[in-house]
Amino acid sequence: MNVDYSQLGLKAGLEIHQQLDTKTKLFCNCPPVIRDDKPDIVIKRRLRASAGEAGKVDVAAAYEQLRGKHFIYHAYNDSVCDVELDEEPIHELNPEALGVCMQAALMLSARVVDRILVMRKTVVDGSNTSGFQRTALVAKNGFIDLLSGKVRIGTVCVEEESAKIVERRSDYDVYNLSRLGIPLAEIATEADIKSPEQLREVAEYLGMVLRSTRKVKRGLGTIRQDVNVSIKDGARVEIKGAQELRLLSKLVEYEALRQKNLVEIATELKKRKAAAVDKIVNVTDIFSSIESKLIKNTLGSGGVVSAVKLRHFKGLIGREIQPDRRLGTEMSDYAKTFGKVTGIIHSDELPKYGINETDVERINKKLSCGSNDAFVLVAADEERAAPALKAVIDRARQAIKGVPKEVRKANADGTTTFLRPMPGSARMYPETDAKSVKPESEGITFPRLLTEKANDFEKLGVSKDLAHTLINEGAEDFFELMVEENSNVNASFIAEIIVSYAKEMERRNLDHTKINDNHLKAAFSALNEGKLAKESVMEALAEVASGQSLDLEKYKTIPDSELEKELKRIVSSNSELQLSALIGKAMGQLRGKAPGKKIVEILKKLHK
Ligand SMILES: [Zn+2]
Repeated sequence: MNVDYSQLGLKAGLEIHQQLDTKTKLFCNCPPVIRDDKPDIVIKRRLRASAGEAGKVDVAAAYEQLRGKHFIYHAYNDSVCDVELDEEPIHELNPEALGVCMQAALMLSARVVDRILVMRKTVVDGSNTSGFQRTALVAKNGFIDLLSGKVRIGTVCVEEESAKIVERRSDYDVYNLSRLGIPLAEIATEADIKSPEQLREVAEYLGMVLRSTRKVKRGLGTIRQDVNVSIKDGARVEIKGAQELRLLSKLVEYEALRQKNLVEIATELKKRKAAAVDKIVNVTDIFSSIESKLIKNTLGSGGVVSAVKLRHFKGLIGREIQPDRRLGTEMSDYAKTFGKVTGIIHSDELPKYGINETDVERINKKLSCGSNDAFVLVAADEERAAPALKAVIDRARQAIKGVPKEVRKANADGTTTFLRPMPGSARMYPETDAKSVKPESEGITFPRLLTEKANDFEKLGVSKDLAHTLINEGAEDFFELMVEENSNVNASFIAEIIVSYAKEMERRNLDHTKINDNHLKAAFSALNEGKLAKESVMEALAEVASGQSLDLEKYKTIPDSELEKELKRIVSSNSELQLSALIGKAMGQLRGKAPGKKIVEILKKLHK
């Protein structure tokens, strides 16, 4: 997509959370190891809103949403203690974790604060047994200066990781406590980023800075990025939970597109003097004779069909605002969140679902819809239908104003889904169980930046571009290990596969996330032992990406003696062919069965 982001007034900020690989957790002596084996201890808890300290309205409302829900916590005798269980005050702030953050601050030219104060940030989803997350500001006012421009670093913080969700049920959630309390470094930029490409460059650089401390955890889920995005006339939207670097620029691109489309829709709605009518109408009687399976099931179980009229909205609910997502999808997100319904039906998508044009006419009549009006239907039991449609009315009204400020969740394809309204500010208050710490800069050194490693990689025969890509994508350690373990394989080929397989799988419409380091490791090892041809590596990986297991046997190369026999046969039955044509023919027939180089060598000998 060719978009002029400066004209669009794009502004984005990035917040990255990186798990640290320290000897102990942030506030206790437990090992920072994430486990998912059978727990030694299972605890049932309820979270209650405590008045006073945390008595903010949005927090209270959030608690209200969780009313009646309880939490199950999984714990282990040797890696969870009373601190994680919130039965004991926290211990002293882990100096090793603080040191890593101070090193990061040094690399980001940020000023370390005079005293480190631990603060509490209210969390009401049960992911922390105490009801809050502890965080401490380490440094502020830094900057980085990259090819794409200067970006200010607002803050560097050290935080505790939350408990890991195991299972979500309607009446309870299950969390594993082994992850709770692992130190996190949090770096937040100011909203100085002006394009999706710049965001990617900044994210790669900050990741590199943290990895340069050599004290960060590696692998999927160990680093999380939140992005905030706004455009001119749009609004600040926070996108949570991007785990993949390659997804970041797409998130910004699609969010800018979403806001641009929502602004255009708002302009049109204002021009039309549109309005959401605050009246929910029961239209169940119309549906008693309708052949819609979808609705029949609801009515069969005692539910109702309710509707709201959206004056002058016709054609705009069905307008696409992100790939395969419409204003109607956003209304549906609201209805799902606030009414716990499975979805909505809007007039822009009808006739569909067994609802025909005559039915639409009857609904229009009942709601007194004019030719430019639209409606939204919800089929559910009455207790859920009403809040769902109220949420739809709310979202429709916001659509007239423009872009709502909200927190959204990153989807795997780069689009986003509504998560919750933007929380109010000032959710932090001091941790009463911790003394403030004076940061000691002695022993905090500027580490060797990983970017300097690019030179080492070039010495192995890897091109400059490829060397930098390895580092930007955080693959430097894995690359070095693979080169060390597979001395018969060209380092440049190893690098090429590591940085390009994801893109190649995407090109083939396959899911690259199914491929992990162990698959690559096995492929390189087979290559090293001469059991696999270079040409077969991507093919074998593609099978993994399409959901099959890695089957290297299938791609096994044939022994040299057999290869020679096979080539002799090809030469003698094609005696009229020139060498180049012979090579082409043999390659076609033996592709993946033997290294191309070897085929050429033998053919040259045979063709004399
Ligand atoms: Zn502990």
